[in-house]
Amino acid sequence: MRLAGLAPLLFLTLAAAGGSPAPGPLRIIGASTGCIAGAHALPPEGPGYIVIRAGQSSFWGAPNTLRGISLLAAEAQADGLSELYIGDISGPRGGPLAGGHIAHQRGLDVDIYLDTDPKPRLAPWQMENLTPPALVAPGSAMVDPSRFSAATVELIRLATELPGLDRLLVNAAIKRELCETVTGDRSWLRRVRPWWGHRAHMHLHFACPPGQPLCVDQAPVPPGDGCGASLAWWFPPSGGIQPPPPGGGVPPAMPVACDAIIGRSAAPPPGAEAN
Ligand SMILES: [Zn+2]
Repeated sequence: MRLAGLAPLLFLTLAAAGGSPAPGPLRIIGASTGCIAGAHALPPEGPGYIVIRAGQSSFWGAPNTLRGISLLAAEAQADGLSELYIGDISGPRGGPLAGGHIAHQRGLDVDIYLDTDPKPRLAPWQMENLTPPALVAPGSAMVDPSRFSAATVELIRLATELPGLDRLLVNAAIKRELCETVTGDRSWLRRVRPWWGHRAHMHLHFACPPGQPLCVDQAPVPPGDGCGASLAWWFPPSGGIQPPPPGGGVPPAMPVACDAIIGRSAAPPPGAEAN
């Protein structure tokens, strides 16, 4: 047992501390702002993956999301890649994560770290304070060649091919590196989209599963590999990466249908980050 045999007990304790999912069948409500009922918990570890910072109780998601995570971990393991560190999915009922992301609200998003080094055995308290290494230094527009490797490319490619995956966000420097180095089949690059941040992890977003009439999908990913003018915009002639828009935009209002699941007071926390 990787976490010294304490993982299941710690996990149950943390799950109780973070609240419980809304009962009943799966219901996914909203667009980027929203909630989920009938969420399932990702077990704290499984073949090929380990959940980090489980104390934040952000390991809840729709069953298809959890299946995608498990499948990716198994496929990565089968390809000889290291175990994956899994970060935020959603809270037990969705809505804004305390002090965290505003995009992880419906159990359809998950942050998976791009650290492809072997994962040492760590104590639970260390897992709570873990910060996996970044592939792009702060302020840089280039990947760190000591961190970006063929294993990174393979991990991202495997993720793009998961059933139901809508898109995958990475730092613009990572997207550019993929555009400049991937040969052969490049069709999977389409689902890899550049974004701010995401220097250490990729953000996987799954499409609404069937039978969820209140779940609103994003506009489809444009055709093409996304390596042209839309990517060039991220790298202004003055250097670095395009700064984010001031204020970060206003998230859509919480759907009324979420009132019974998370209540009305669930406004995004100050300083919340997108994705
Ligand atoms: Zn994310």
